[in-house]
Amino acid sequence: MTNIPDTTSRPQIHLQAGRSRRFRAGHPWIFSNEITMTPETKALVPGGLVTIVDAGEERLGVGTFNPHSLIAVRLLSRDADQTIDQAFLTKRLRNALALRQTLYDRPYYRLVHAEADELPGLVIDRYGEIVTLQANTAGMEALQPLLLAALDDLLAPTAVVLKNDSAVRKLEGLELYDRIAGGELDGPVELEENGAVFFADLVTGQKTGWFFDQRDNRAAVAALAKGRSVIDFYSYAGGFAIQAARAGATRVVAVDRSEGSLALATRSAERNGVTVECVRAEAFAEMERLVTAGQRFGVVIADPPAFVKSKKDQAAGAKGYRKMSRLAASLVEPGGFLLVASCSHHMAPDAFAEEVRHGLSSAGRSGRILRSAGAGSDHPLHPWLPESAYLKALLLQLD
Ligand code: SAH
Repeated sequence: MTNIPDTTSRPQIHLQAGRSRRFRAGHPWIFSNEITMTPETKALVPGGLVTIVDAGEERLGVGTFNPHSLIAVRLLSRDADQTIDQAFLTKRLRNALALRQTLYDRPYYRLVHAEADELPGLVIDRYGEIVTLQANTAGMEALQPLLLAALDDLLAPTAVVLKNDSAVRKLEGLELYDRIAGGELDGPVELEENGAVFFADLVTGQKTGWFFDQRDNRAAVAALAKGRSVIDFYSYAGGFAIQAARAGATRVVAVDRSEGSLALATRSAERNGVTVECVRAEAFAEMERLVTAGQRFGVVIADPPAFVKSKKDQAAGAKGYRKMSRLAASLVEPGGFLLVASCSHHMAPDAFAEEVRHGLSSAGRSGRILRSAGAGSDHPLHPWLPESAYLKALLLQLD
C-alpha cells in the first residue's frame, strides 16, 4: 500500500496573492508561476499530494504537485480535508463508469478521460473485462498502485495493460514504459462499436489499442455508405471501413502503411461477414496514384495520425492537412462525401477548417459541411480546458 499522508500532515502549496481567481472559478490547474516557490516547495517529491492554500491561508482543496512541471498542481478535490485513498479513487471511477453505462449498452469505451472525470492526467479505456491505463502525470503515476486496487474493487478486470508510453510523460519527468500490470493477455481483444465487432491489439497497437473517440463520426459516415464505394485512408484496424461495409457499401478499400493494422482490419472484416480490400501504402502516394488513375469513390475518409505533434510543427502540419484535403477531395465523385479529421492538439478547430477549405479549393471542389464534430461523449471535456478538445472531424458533401 502506498503511504498516503493524512490531510493534516500533507505539505501545503501557497498561491501568490491575487492568483487564485481562475482556480476558484473552476479551473483545475495551478501553474508554477502562481505558487510561492520556497526551497521546501521546490524540494517536494514530484507527484505527491498537497493541500492548496491561498495567500490569505484559506484552504482551497487537495491536488497532486510536480515542482518540475509548468502545470504544477492538478486538483483532485475542492474539499481540503478529503483523504486521497483507495475509497476516494473507487468513488471517482464509479462516477465515470455510471456515465458510460448511461451512454452505452456495451462495455467498450473510454472509461476515464482525465480532468473531465476529475482524475487529472488519467486515461482508462475499457474492453469488456480488460482495461488499458495511461498515467500521464507524476501525480497519477504515484497514485497508480491505489488506482489499480480501486479498479479491481470496481471492475475486477482480467487484465490491465499500462500504456505509459506517451511523450507527454517526459514533461513530467517520467519514464516511458508499457507493461501488463495484472492478469494475462493472449493476442488481440474483441470490442464492439455501433454493432460491429473489432479486434484490437492492446500491446502492440497504436495509442491504447482502439480509437474510441471516432465512434459517432464512424456512425455518421456509415449512414451515408449504402450503395456507395468507400475508401478509408489511415484505416488502422478498420474502424470506419468495416462499419461502412456493414452499412451496405458496394466496395470498401482500407489504406494504411502498417501491415499489423491491416491484418487486424482483415480479421475484423471476416468476423463481421464483410469484405474490405486492404492496401498497404503511404497514404499521400496512394491518393496521388488514384487521382492520376482517375478513380473516384462515393465516400472518402482520411483520419490520419497527428500531423502537428508540437507547436513547432504547426506550419508543416497545417500544410499536411491542406494537402490531404486536396487529394482526398479529388477522389470524391460528384455528390459524394468526404470525412477529414485531425487529432492534433496543437491544431485549433478553425485553423483545421481553414486548411480543409483551402484544400477543397485547390482541388477545384465546392460543397457543404454536414457535420463538424469532436470526440464522442465518453471523451468529455472539462469546461475550463476547452483546448483539450483535440479531435476535429468535418464531414462534407462535395458537388
Ligand atoms: N482512422 C483510424 C485511426 C488512424 S491511426 C481509426 O478510425 O481507427 C493512424 C493510422 O495511420 C495508423 O494505423 C498508422 O499505421 C497509419 N499511418 C501513419 N502514417 C501513415 C502514412 N504516411 N500512410 C499510411 N498510413 C499511415
